[in-house]
Amino acid sequence: MRQPFRRELSNLIERGRDRQLRLAVTGLSQAGKTAFLTSLINQLRHAGVEAQLDMLPAAREGRLLGAQRLNQPDLGVPRFPYDPGMAALRETPPRWPAPTRGISELRLQLRYRPAQQGWLSPDIAHLTLDLFDYPGEWLLDLPLLQHDFYSWSQAQPLHTGDQRRALFSEWLAEVETLDPAAEADEAQLASLAEAYAQGLRRAKQAGFSNLQPGRFLLPGELDGAPVLQFFPLPQLSMSKEALDALPPNSLYATLAARFRYYQQQVVRPFYRDHFRRFDRQIVLVDVLGALNAGPERFEDLSQALGQLMQSFDYGKRSLLTRLFAPRIDKLAIAATKADHVTPDQHGHVVQLLEALLAEPLKDLRFANVPVKALSLAAIRATEAREVMHNGKRSPALRGTTLEGEDVLVYPGDVPPRLPTHDFWHQQGFDFPSFRPMDTPSDALAHIRMDAVIDWLIGDKLV
Ligand code: GDP
Repeated sequence: MRQPFRRELSNLIERGRDRQLRLAVTGLSQAGKTAFLTSLINQLRHAGVEAQLDMLPAAREGRLLGAQRLNQPDLGVPRFPYDPGMAALRETPPRWPAPTRGISELRLQLRYRPAQQGWLSPDIAHLTLDLFDYPGEWLLDLPLLQHDFYSWSQAQPLHTGDQRRALFSEWLAEVETLDPAAEADEAQLASLAEAYAQGLRRAKQAGFSNLQPGRFLLPGELDGAPVLQFFPLPQLSMSKEALDALPPNSLYATLAARFRYYQQQVVRPFYRDHFRRFDRQIVLVDVLGALNAGPERFEDLSQALGQLMQSFDYGKRSLLTRLFAPRIDKLAIAATKADHVTPDQHGHVVQLLEALLAEPLKDLRFANVPVKALSLAAIRATEAREVMHNGKRSPALRGTTLEGEDVLVYPGDVPPRLPTHDFWHQQGFDFPSFRPMDTPSDALAHIRMDAVIDWLIGDKLV
């Protein structure tokens, strides 16, 4: 067969197939998942007209014609609330979309003109894009699969750091008086499990991220279910052998059984039924929020990300590969809300993100998974300005705070590597939360959404 003809034929087969891509978005809560997915859908739907997508070749060349919503195939998964999100952004004054709290999905069909037109290729091609959004907190549970109840209890950082210890102090005082051999008292277990969950929620609100089990924070459909009524026993004085020999109705054996149930019936099914089937993934990280919140939260975010990224460790002997054989073939890691800092700091934001994820990034590159780190603002809420300061031009941001006050600020310099003791004590970092801007056009204003779309799906639009 002649070479050009063979190429034509394989293009045709490729395009003729029902081409599909499953793209998942994750991140810890408040990372910006809902805003990101709302913006992604919005940009693709308005790709042919208003959307500013110059860094996406298919859009720049006028080949991307737009996207239509289709009914999703997984009937058991809630639909991603795109319309309510857009409605909130169009209110006066605009509001941020209400965050999603479990897994959700939306199917888009993209229409585009292939870059190379040949006598056999179609004028218009389609790509079906299944978009998923799920809480990064659920990924914090992967390491829990390699533990039994005993080792998991020991591994919980309940005594680390003053702030964290303070958040759990009452619960710890009560749990430390429990006798693992005593008969389990259902009412007591339920109330201690609720108190533990409350401690995790308080820690989350205080900005901590390294919190387990993940479903205690974002239970999704399991809210109130007995499977969530367990907690770690941090200071066990008996040996593991003695504990394992306790009768099934003992406190220890009851908690251990619930822990196993949670592993097998909650954590595993998410990986098996969803995670394993994603083709591409973006992990969103609110680096700037953590920088704003201070050293203990920043350190905690770093640990939580280390755990979360184990779900993308494709090394041959990793827990994930052994258990689930996932197939993600491209990954993006993005620092969100880049509009919180002036544009001259964006390079540092990416460097800081890379420093924060140095180990997982090294492992991913070693395992030959293409991965890119970048910074973006899914829904830009500020405008970059210049002000005169001591006779010199300096960059600044103009925006409206959540309380409705118009401000002009310089939030601070972003350190290009992990912040040192001196950074926290001398320089600091401070910015308010902004509310979204009024959007006169159908397409939302953003920073680098086009670059991230290109990385995640650009190769499918040629
Ligand atoms: P989720 O919990 O990961 O779904 O996070 P959300 O998407 O709900 O975002 C949490 C909050 O971060 C929002 O309510 C906004 O206040 C803020 N936010 C998200 N994306 C952006 C952005 O692109 N720019 C700015 N300035 N703020 C953002």
